[in-house]
Amino acid sequence: MPSVPKSTIANRLVCPICGNDEDFFELANDVLLTSYYRQNSDGSFSHESDASQTNGDVLLFCGSCEEDLTYFHQRFKEMIF
Ligand SMILES: [Zn+2]
Repeated sequence: MPSVPKSTIANRLVCPICGNDEDFFELANDVLLTSYYRQNSDGSFSHESDASQTNGDVLLFCGSCEEDLTYFHQRFKEMIF
């Protein structure tokens, strides 16, 4: 059986506009961001952690040409490991 070249893997997400297949970004609407801080003995604060909750839509964009690729978002989420 011949080996399959990486570029032909069927479920690789590729921007249909510019062909970018490496850089993508998500944009979330209506996000509730909670930041946790601990106060130090000298009165300063150290950032401990963040918790975010998204109540609105999450959009997916091409990181190269910024085309809206939200219709790929379900597949994108399934491929995050
Ligand atoms: Zn693109």
